[in-house]
Amino acid sequence: MSDIKTELVPHEVIENQLLVALDDKSKVAKYHRKHHDNNREQFRAHDAVWYAVSRGRLKKPDVCSVCGDGGKMHAHHEDYSKRLDVVWVCEECHNNIHIKHRERCAPKRGRAHADCGD
Ligand SMILES: [Zn+2]
Ligand SMILES: [Zn+2]
Repeated sequence: MSDIKTELVPHEVIENQLLVALDDKSKVAKYHRKHHDNNREQFRAHDAVWYAVSRGRLKKPDVCSVCGDGGKMHAHHEDYSKRLDVVWVCEECHNNIHIKHRERCAPKRGRAHADCGD
């Protein structure tokens, strides 16, 4: 009987390692899928905005809605599912919005942007 046992042990070990590896893989895949979905929402939202602007359905202002400066306007989404709900801001204000968002988001969750994907 002892030789059956010694034969079983390595199998169990290998199986456990495989299960752990599979579990890790599915976690990683889930994470990537979530991340990818967030990015896709972001791309779609931006596409929708630029399409609406090109069709004249959405007006892109010449000045930043936060500081009033001119220049290249960025469309900032508070919520990517509301595709045409944007705030027009200059590059600097856009960066500030995202920095503030990070400060709000990171300490609360204990890790940076686990849920918001930003
Ligand atoms: Zn600005
Ligand atoms: Zn933004």
